[in-house]
Amino acid sequence: MLFRFNLAAQMLVAFVLAILLGVFFGSSIDVIKPLGELFLRLIKFIIAPLILATLVVGVASSANPKQLGRIGAKTIVYYLATTAIAIIIGLIIAFALSPGKGLSLSEGGEIPEAAANEPQSAVTTILNIIPENPFNALTSGNVLQIIFFALFIGVALTLIGEKGLPVLRFFEGFAEIMYKITGIIMKLAPIGIVGLLAPVIGSYGTSVLLPLLKVILAVYLACLLHAFIVYSLTVKTFAKMNPFNFFKGIAPAAFVAFSTASSSGTLPVTIKNTNENLKVPNRISSFVLPLGATINMDGTAIYQGVAVVFIAQFYGLELSFIQLLTVVLMTILASIGTAGVPGAGMVMLAMVLTSVNMPLEGIALIAGIDRILDMMRTSLNVVGDASAAVVVAGSEKALGEKEAA
Ligand code: ASP
Repeated sequence: MLFRFNLAAQMLVAFVLAILLGVFFGSSIDVIKPLGELFLRLIKFIIAPLILATLVVGVASSANPKQLGRIGAKTIVYYLATTAIAIIIGLIIAFALSPGKGLSLSEGGEIPEAAANEPQSAVTTILNIIPENPFNALTSGNVLQIIFFALFIGVALTLIGEKGLPVLRFFEGFAEIMYKITGIIMKLAPIGIVGLLAPVIGSYGTSVLLPLLKVILAVYLACLLHAFIVYSLTVKTFAKMNPFNFFKGIAPAAFVAFSTASSSGTLPVTIKNTNENLKVPNRISSFVLPLGATINMDGTAIYQGVAVVFIAQFYGLELSFIQLLTVVLMTILASIGTAGVPGAGMVMLAMVLTSVNMPLEGIALIAGIDRILDMMRTSLNVVGDASAAVVVAGSEKALGEKEAA
């Protein structure tokens, strides 16, 4: 944990250093571009296996027939619905604040290759999601097709039960390995930030920084709106709980999440607050909360929506309706695949960007402020999980019930 804090500090230092280097050396700082390229390549290298492993495990663990009774079904529907609402709120706020407008790099600047969008008909786009050969999808890094493959493996794994266990164990282990590699790559993020951001500042000046403040504002505002509107409504409607009591009860976990930026790390506190303060019986919270810490990330969804809009505006790219729809779907899937550890949402952003053909270089722009965004999104992730526990318990009339010893 301590090291993670250090990494966050290192990323902030790298951010400041990149600005200074850019200001002092102007466009001659381009010589350090290979450092940025190094980081980008490492992120690209992990995407395909990371998506495959984490989504297979995510789907298989949420569709486990043993747990998928009424409570399981309610939980999953709630998680998916609130995540979808979160991303829509994120997109609306992002478009309203337009963080990347006004300094588009498109005029005179080079737009990274990936941005060359070929318009396709809606039907072709949808048909193209089905890989003719899933292994080709993996080798060529076709994100949508890999997701399709992973979802099917995950569902089929749960359908065959016992027989699938060895394969499930394999993917669980594989997912752990991928998380580990992601962690190692993240340690290089400070180098990546300097390598990518300094040349941008060198060429375009510090005016590119103001939009970052707007990004922070957009993410914080959207997260607060989502919490106070959506969760207030759901706990009130489905569990007859006073929203004020809900927020008060879960506040300690929200603060722990804010300071650790890890919903998995916060899980023990989330469970404690949910059981003791919100009176959710353990039989419900012990299922809903760990599942939520794995697959439910409303804050991450908001962040990804804002980030996509910001990066599109920054590079002067128009997002078509189909692309926006893809972003919504991808973000829901990305939040299922995102691990509850610091910075994970940023790596999954690569998947969302790739799916709409947008430049991964954009990640570097916001990587320097990622920790600030991560703290807020993780708090919302945790509060969202708790709201699900309350809603499910409320709808089961189980709030405050005495636990069988
Ligand atoms: N840090 C977040 C969490 O633990 C995940 C993310 O990076 O978005 O919930």
